[in-house]
Amino acid sequence: MHDIKGGRHTLAIHGGQVVDPLYGAVSVPIYQTSTFAFLSAEDGAGKFAGEIEGYKYTRLGNPTVKALEDSVAVLENGYAGLATASGMAAITAVYMTFLSKDSHIVSTDAVYGPSRLVIEKHFSRFGVESTYIDTSNIELIKKSIKKNTKVLYIETPANPTLMLTDIAACAKIAKEHNLVLVVDNTFMGPHYQRPIELGADVVVHSMTKSLNGHSDVVAGMIVTKNKELYKQIQAVHFSTGGTIDPNQAWLVLRGIKTMPLRVEKSSDNALEVAKFLEKHPKVKWVKYPGLKSHPQYDLAKKQMTGFGAMMCFEVEGGVEGGKTVMNNVKLSTLAVSLGGIESLIQHPASMTHAGMTKENRAGAGITDGMIRFSVGCEDCRDIIDDLDNALNKIGAAKAEGGKTMSKAKK
Ligand SMILES: *Cc1c(COP(=O)(O)O)cnc(C)c1O
Repeated sequence: MHDIKGGRHTLAIHGGQVVDPLYGAVSVPIYQTSTFAFLSAEDGAGKFAGEIEGYKYTRLGNPTVKALEDSVAVLENGYAGLATASGMAAITAVYMTFLSKDSHIVSTDAVYGPSRLVIEKHFSRFGVESTYIDTSNIELIKKSIKKNTKVLYIETPANPTLMLTDIAACAKIAKEHNLVLVVDNTFMGPHYQRPIELGADVVVHSMTKSLNGHSDVVAGMIVTKNKELYKQIQAVHFSTGGTIDPNQAWLVLRGIKTMPLRVEKSSDNALEVAKFLEKHPKVKWVKYPGLKSHPQYDLAKKQMTGFGAMMCFEVEGGVEGGKTVMNNVKLSTLAVSLGGIESLIQHPASMTHAGMTKENRAGAGITDGMIRFSVGCEDCRDIIDDLDNALNKIGAAKAEGGKTMSKAKK
C-alpha cells in the first residue's frame, strides 16, 4: 500500500493496512502459522524460484508481518521495511550486512549502550574496527573517516544526553565518502523526524518504544531508501533469523494506528513539563530539544517537526537527590524504556549506569543528579504535580534523616 496519500494520522491508520481478502476483516488478521501450503508441486516450485508471488515459510515472510513492514515504510517514506524480533536484531542485521573483516564504522559515542557494545565486544572479534565520537561535531566526523570506513551510524537525539546530530550534513559526508548512513530513529520516531527524507540510507527502530507505545512488546524494524539496500539486508536477515512473530507484529500494527495521537499528546506534555522543571528551585538544568536553552534548538527545528517525549534534567543533591525523586514519584513509573503511553522515570547514576565509575559517567555526560524522563499521555497537570511533590522532598528528606542539607540553589 505504498501509494497511500494523506497526512501523518491518515498514513498511520491506513498505511500497510489491507482489508482481508477472505472475509473482509477490517483489522489485518494474525496469520499465526509457521508454514504455508502449496497448491501443487508446480506452485511450490514456482514460489521457491520466485516466479510465483506468495508465502512459503514465516521466517521468509508472513502477511501480518508484511502489513507491519509496509506500515512503517510508509511512515518513514522509505522503499520497504524488514521487521525484526527486537531493536537490537534490526541493528545487528544492518551491521552484519555492511561490515566485514577490516572494515570500519564511525558512530555516535552516546548511542544506545548495546548498539556500541555489540560492535566493540563482538564484531571486533571478526576484525571490525570502530570509532565512537561526538557526532554533533561535523568536523570530528570528517576527521574520523578512514580508507576502510563503510558505515556512518548515528542516533539523534542521543540517549540519554538528548544531544542532536545534523542528519542532512551526515548524508552529505556519507555520499562524498561512499558510506552507508544508518540512523537510529527510535527516540523521535517517524511522526516528527524522517531521516530518509534528509538523505539517510537506512533507518532502524526499536518498535518497543513509541511505535508500539504500550510497553507490552519488544520488536524492531529496518527501513531502506531503495530496493538495492533492502535486498542486501533482507538476504542477511532471512538467513540469520532475527525475524518477528506474527502475533508480536500484529500488536505493533495495532499500536501504530494511535502513534501520532500519542506522540503529539506526550510531546505537548513534555514541553510543559520541561518549562515547569526549568523554573523549579530543585532543578539545576533541563535538556529538552523544544526548549530555547537547548544548545541545538535551531537544528531541532530544522530537522524535526516536533520535539518528542524525552528529556533529562539535573536535580540538586547529586546521587541522593536523584534517589529521593525516584522514591517519591507516585504517578510516574520507575522503569527503563521510553515512548510508552505512561510516564517512565529513571536515574542513570543509581540505576542503569551505577556500575560505571563517576569519572566514566561524567565522560559520557551522565551526571550524578541526572534524571531521564519519558513523558507519557497522562493529564499534564497530574505529571507536573507528581514531579513537584517528589522534587520538594529533596532537601526535606535529608533534613529529616539528620544529614547535612545540600547546598541551596543560587
Ligand atoms: C531500546 C532501544 C534500542 C534497542 O531496542 P530493543 O527493542 O530493546 O532491542 C535501540 N536503540 C534505541 C535508541 C533504543 O532506545
